[in-house]
Amino acid sequence: MNAKPILSVAGVSVTFGTFPALTEVTFDVAEGELVALIGPNGAGKTTILNVLSGEVPPTAGTVSFRGRPLAGLKPHEVARRGLARTFQAAEPFQHLTVRENVMVGGVPASGLGLIAGLGFRANSLPAARRVASEADAHLERVGLLEKADLPAGLLTAGQRRLLSIARVLATGASMLVLDEPGAGLNESEKTFLGDVILSLWRDGRTVLFVEHDMPLVSRIAQRIMVLDRGHLIADGAPDEVRANPKVIEAYLGR
Ligand code: ADP
Repeated sequence: MNAKPILSVAGVSVTFGTFPALTEVTFDVAEGELVALIGPNGAGKTTILNVLSGEVPPTAGTVSFRGRPLAGLKPHEVARRGLARTFQAAEPFQHLTVRENVMVGGVPASGLGLIAGLGFRANSLPAARRVASEADAHLERVGLLEKADLPAGLLTAGQRRLLSIARVLATGASMLVLDEPGAGLNESEKTFLGDVILSLWRDGRTVLFVEHDMPLVSRIAQRIMVLDRGHLIADGAPDEVRANPKVIEAYLGR
């Protein structure tokens, strides 16, 4: 690997009761990489994301971000360190506008962003205007600027996915973890999403995304990691991973 790792996952296992959801998963992500994490249903993809973002403590192993362990940090503290994620089933605050959803940030667990965001609603203070214009820049990035004043409840499923990315951008995180960003998007939205992710990556952000849509993965990922039944069974360049017999077996062999 050329660049130093921004994220190090070392020997991470997660057991739910006696069920091993993850078994000694080890990988690094270098600063500036664009990595896809794939695997059949039940492979442990959501569980590893939950470990990275501080929702699920590992039963064994460590996760370090920028050389510092994340053990014991709450999700909003992990986000403050610079690692922020979207959720597969994330719903925006329906009655806030699209812009306000970005202003309250991508870290609902802290509650603080929400209060600050609502306080800015009057839109009179210079600071409020600055936050609003930053929110608009994030919305422009994901193609939602023209929807900024609409209640978020009026967005389509695909637009909500894009809004969740804008909310993650609002945290200022340098590493973005996206949980199935393509789910629920139609083909043209997926193409646009791919362009958005590539442009965020070209700007220098590190991106790790879980995705089922293989054409999307193949188009944008520089590297693919494959989980199967809690084990990392492949990790490398897309062509190499696609030709790996273990990967073919994981997808076709059951
Ligand atoms: P994926 O995202 O790859 O579909 P998950 O990480 O959601 O897989 O789940 C991996 C395995 O762990 C599945 O068999 C799932 O049923 C199990 N699992 C996930 N979360 C829990 C939990 N909280 N309690 C018990 N089992 C769980």
